[in-house]
Amino acid sequence: MATAPRIKATLDAQKPGPVIVWLRTDLRLGDNPALEAACETGRDVLCVFILETDETLKARGGATRWWLHGSLLAIGRDIEKRGGRLVLCKGASRSLIPRICKAAGAAAIVWNRRYGEAERTLDAALKKQLQDDGLVAESFNSHLLYEPWEVTTKAGTPMRVFTPFWRAARQTHEPMTPRPAPKQIPDGKLAKVKLPDEVALDDLDLLPTKPDWASGMRDAWQPGETGAEKTLRTFLKTGIDGYAENRNLPDRPSTSRLSPYLKFGEISPRQIWHAVDHAAQNGTLKASADDVSKFLAELGWREFSYHLLFHFPKLGSENFQSKFDAFPWASDTAHLKAWQRGRTGYPIVDAAMRQLWVTGWMHNRMRMVAASFLIKHLLIDWREGEAWFWDTLLDADPASNTASWQWVAGSGADAAPYFRIFNPISQGQKFDTEGNYVREFVPELAKLPAKYIHNPWIAPKSVLDAAGVTLGETYPHPIVDHDRARQRALAAFKSIGTIDA
Ligand SMILES: Cc1cc2nc3c(=O)[nH]c(=O)nc-3n(C[C@H](O)[C@H](O)[C@H](O)COP(=O)(O)OP(=O)(O)OC[C@H]3O[C@@H](n4cnc5c(N)ncnc54)[C@H](O)[C@@H]3O)c2cc1C
Repeated sequence: MATAPRIKATLDAQKPGPVIVWLRTDLRLGDNPALEAACETGRDVLCVFILETDETLKARGGATRWWLHGSLLAIGRDIEKRGGRLVLCKGASRSLIPRICKAAGAAAIVWNRRYGEAERTLDAALKKQLQDDGLVAESFNSHLLYEPWEVTTKAGTPMRVFTPFWRAARQTHEPMTPRPAPKQIPDGKLAKVKLPDEVALDDLDLLPTKPDWASGMRDAWQPGETGAEKTLRTFLKTGIDGYAENRNLPDRPSTSRLSPYLKFGEISPRQIWHAVDHAAQNGTLKASADDVSKFLAELGWREFSYHLLFHFPKLGSENFQSKFDAFPWASDTAHLKAWQRGRTGYPIVDAAMRQLWVTGWMHNRMRMVAASFLIKHLLIDWREGEAWFWDTLLDADPASNTASWQWVAGSGADAAPYFRIFNPISQGQKFDTEGNYVREFVPELAKLPAKYIHNPWIAPKSVLDAAGVTLGETYPHPIVDHDRARQRALAAFKSIGTIDA
C-alpha cells in the first residue's frame, strides 16, 4: 500500500512531534491505513476517540451506544497490549481536535474517511485549519472497497442502479489487500501526558442503566475486533455454504451477522472480501460459486448505499424521487407504536420487531417485511421507520439504513417496485415454514401448530384454546386487514403517479 510511506516522507522534513490517530468508524488495529501510516513514521503515536457532540452531526442511537462501549473497551486493551493508549474525550471535535493536537505537541494527525455530508464538512474544515497551523493532516480509505468517486457512468455521473454500479466497480480495480495490525503502537513521552478533556470510558455514559435493556444484546454479541474475526471464521466454516438459498431463512444463522462489526469498523470490507476469496481459492470453502458471488454482492449493496449517500447527501431526509413528496402518508401514533413494540397482530412482523428490540439486529428478509408493513400496510412515512431502526439497530448505518428504507418505500434509487407489497402471512409461511422464528420471538404463540402460526385468527377456537391463545388478550388482533391495506396502498401510489391510470 503506497499510502503509509507518503506521510512518513512528508513528516521527515517537518518539526518533531508525535502523530495523532483520530479513530472514528474504524475501531480496529488490522487493515487500518491511518494507524499504519502513523506507526510507519517511527514517531510517538497517540490514538484518540471522541464521543462527538457537534450539533451538525446526527446523534447516535441507543443500541449503538451500548455497542460502542464494548468496542472502546476492546480496542483500548488491544492498543495497550502494543505499548500505546487510547485517549477518550467527549465534546465537539471541531474544537477538541485542535486542542488535543496542541497539548500533545503533535506534528501530524491522521484519520480514515467518513462519507456523510455533515461529517465530510466537519473533517474538511478541520483538515484545513490544522494544515494552516502547520500540521500534516492526512485521510485514508478504510471503510469501503471502492471510494464513491471511483465508480461512475460512462458520462462520468454517479450511478443510480445497482447492477451496473457493481459491474463497473468490479472493473475498476481489485479490492486492496488488507494490511496486518502494527506490532507496536508506541506512545513514548505521551504516556504520562494528561490531555485536555480526557475522560474515562464510564464517563461517556454509553451503557443503559435505568432500565438496563441490553441483556439480550450481551447474550448475542461480542463487540470488538476479536468478536469480528470469530464471527467471520464461523461464517466461512458453517454459514456461507448454501448462502444463496438459505440467506432468506430467519430462524437460523444463515447470514454472516457481520453488519455491526462493519458499522463500527471492527472489520474492514477488504478483510472480509479477501478472506472469502482466499478460502475459495485454496479450496477450504464448501460454498458454491453462486453462494460466494451472492455474498460478495451484498457487500456490493453496502458500497452502493455509500455511493448514493455520498452523491445524494439528503438521502436520509428527502425522497430520492421527488414525486414521493406528495405521498399521502398517514399519521397514526397508535399504529406506529404497535409496529415498534411488535404488536401488529401479524406474527412474522411482530417477531421481526421483537428480534430487533431484544437483540439489536434483524434478519434482512425480515427488515424488508417489517419495513414494507409500516410503509405500505400502515402508510406511515419511511422516515419514521428509519428513525426507529436508527435507535434500535446495532448496525444502524447512515448509508445502508437510509438507502434501504427508501428502497422499500419505492422512493429510492433502483427501488423496489410499488406493487411489491409483501403479504405478511405468505412471507411467514414461505420463509418461516415451521414457525420457529415466530415461536422464538413471540412466545405467546409458541404452542400454535405451524398451520396457524402466521394467521392465528383463522385457527378454530379449540386450537387457540389448546395453545393458550386468546386473540385480543394474549395476542392482538391484526391492526389492519391485509387485503384492504393493500388496496389502500395501491390507491396511494396511484395518487402520486407511480401507477398508470
Ligand atoms: C429497511 C432496512 C434497513 C436496513 N438498515 C441497515 C442498517 O442500518 N445497517 C446495515 O448494515 N444494513 C442495513 N440493512 C441491510 C441488511 O438488512 C443488513 O446489512 C443485513 O441484514 C446484515 O446482516 P448480515 O451481516 O448477516 O448480512 P449478510 O447477508 O451476511 O451480508 C454481509 C454484509 O453485506 C452488507 N449488506 C447485506 N445486505 C445489504 C443491503 N441490503 N444493503 C446494504 N448492505 C447490505 C452488510 O454490511 C452485511 O453485513 C437494512 C435493510 C433494510 C431492508
